[in-house]
Amino acid sequence: MKRILAILTAIVSAFVILSVSGCDDKGGKEYIGIISAMDKEIEVLIENADIEKVETVGGEKYHVGTLCGKNVIITKSGIGKVRASSGVTTMFNTYNISKLIFTGVAGGVADETEVLDEIVATRVLEHDYGIRTNDGFIWRSGDPGIGDTPGEYYYCDKDLVDIAYNAAVEVVGNDHAYMGTIATGDQFIASEEYVNYLKTEYDAYACEMEGAAVAAICIKYQIPFVVIRALSDKADGNAHESYDNFIDIAGGNSCRIVMKFLKSL
Ligand code: SAH
Repeated sequence: MKRILAILTAIVSAFVILSVSGCDDKGGKEYIGIISAMDKEIEVLIENADIEKVETVGGEKYHVGTLCGKNVIITKSGIGKVRASSGVTTMFNTYNISKLIFTGVAGGVADETEVLDEIVATRVLEHDYGIRTNDGFIWRSGDPGIGDTPGEYYYCDKDLVDIAYNAAVEVVGNDHAYMGTIATGDQFIASEEYVNYLKTEYDAYACEMEGAAVAAICIKYQIPFVVIRALSDKADGNAHESYDNFIDIAGGNSCRIVMKFLKSL
């Protein structure tokens, strides 16, 4: 009887261990994850990909297939830090992801940048995360935590940045491709005053609403990442109109860079 019990216990323990470690085995096949905020930022990728299936998880569609010879998962998360971090976390927990690319549009911050220039992020930050005091705003980063920690940049993978930058040069030319800091926050910036703040405080080249959120999750999961953004506007008083006029072409250009990037990997 004791022996039977011991055997049963061993079987049950093995089953428990297998089902727990099963979280790490999502089918074995490795994918490159591609995420954007909006449909217009992945449209060109979907058109060019061979999509095997589309799975809906947490209300968003995950397109599973191949693009430029690579296994890919393509999704759009919705706009802002909450949706972006949720989208990327869901992707990591559902599929076996080796690298993550964010593709999309942004507002230009650095003086030398023009609408339709491409910015490949070397590092990203959450510009709206911190402490609001009587004397103003003190920037603190999300990780490792608020309090005594100074603000923090999240660094993109250097090799992926180099490949993405070279791809950007091929698509938009040397004069229109930049590498630099991208500032993320839950606000569409349409203010010259705030653009000056982002420039002087963080040395930002561009601002958007998802990059640092995705980066924070990639760092937790230890997945190398890069953020590729085309400028739809200059984050100034004209930003809304410019965004409406250029979202299609800017969103498409970032997709074309992603495709060159995939070919070079
Ligand atoms: N009018 C649009 C607004 C989209 S928000 C709508 O209601 O659907 C802008 C999106 O593009 C975000 O995903 C953000 O990452 C990026 N973006 C482009 N220009 C930006 C800017 N000036 N400030 C912040 N985000 C910007």
